[in-house]
Amino acid sequence: MTDIIKNSIRAIHDYPKPGIVFRDITPLLANGEAFKATIEALVQRYQSKGLTKIVGIEARGFIFGTALAYALGIGFVPLRKPGKLPGKTIQQRYALEYGEDALEMHTDALDATDHVLIIDDLLATGGTVLAAVELMKHADVTVEECAFIIALNALPGAKRLQQASIPYYTLCEF
Ligand code: 5GP
Repeated sequence: MTDIIKNSIRAIHDYPKPGIVFRDITPLLANGEAFKATIEALVQRYQSKGLTKIVGIEARGFIFGTALAYALGIGFVPLRKPGKLPGKTIQQRYALEYGEDALEMHTDALDATDHVLIIDDLLATGGTVLAAVELMKHADVTVEECAFIIALNALPGAKRLQQASIPYYTLCEF
């Protein structure tokens, strides 16, 4: 089952800048069988874990996260880039290769009774997902696991999650 998922991810060389190989998930999304296999693999893993919400990271985490939340019959909470959410928010900044970015969450989206899965399409340096985990700590939420469709083995994200004792799961690796 993971073969069809991995084989439908396309490598785009020199995007967004020279020397980078971008893993493009749009062929996976366009392939009904591959997209279904992706969501079914996640449903199988998470259907009996007692999750109360799926927390998705903007933007590709929304695609997989909402499909999974729907299939599990639980709610979805978006973590958004600054200035996008209309209500009261909490913010967590994180470092990029050059500069910084931030994720925001509505302050009333989750509470201490929640057990969540954080989901994004890809784990690279781990900066984005670690910022998401920090937001969960501010809200006193239990993070059951962080899930990714892809992990890039050449980058330190997986190691950083291990060092922080944050459980994670990936469907395929490059
Ligand atoms: P990190 O914070 O782990 O360095 O980067 C992960 C974030 O960057 C994710 O939100 C992911 O969507 C995005 N990202 C970085 N590189 C790639 C890539 O090659 N393909 C895709 N689909 N997303 C990427």
